[in-house]
Order: sequence, then structure tokens, then C-alpha cells
Amino acid sequence: MVPHILFCKECNKFTMKEKCPDCNSKTLSTKPAKYSPEDKWGKYRLKYKKENSKKE
Ligand SMILES: [Zn+2]
Repeated sequence: MVPHILFCKECNKFTMKEKCPDCNSKTLSTKPAKYSPEDKWGKYRLKYKKENSKKE
């Protein structure tokens, strides 16, 4: 079983929680509709990565 990855659109952040631990918003499922979940969420992952590296 692959762990269910959820996404907080408020924080642009991935989490396993159904509620964002940071802002307490309900997180969205990243489960794909049909094709290429990597592509669909890739830009968010990139953004997340970029923003994280900026902070350092
Ligand atoms: Zn959040």
C-alpha cells in the first residue's frame, strides 16, 4: 500500500494528515483522476522545493 499523500493548498504543502498541521485546513487528495499524477502535482512539488530552499 502506498501511503496516501494529501496536499494543503493554503500552504502549498504535502502532508499525510487530513488536516494541515500548520493551518488546520482540510487537505486535498493528490490521487489522480486518470493520468500522470506526477505531472499534475509536479509543479507544486517544484514550488514547494523552491520555496523551501529559499528559506535556507
Ligand atoms: Zn496548511
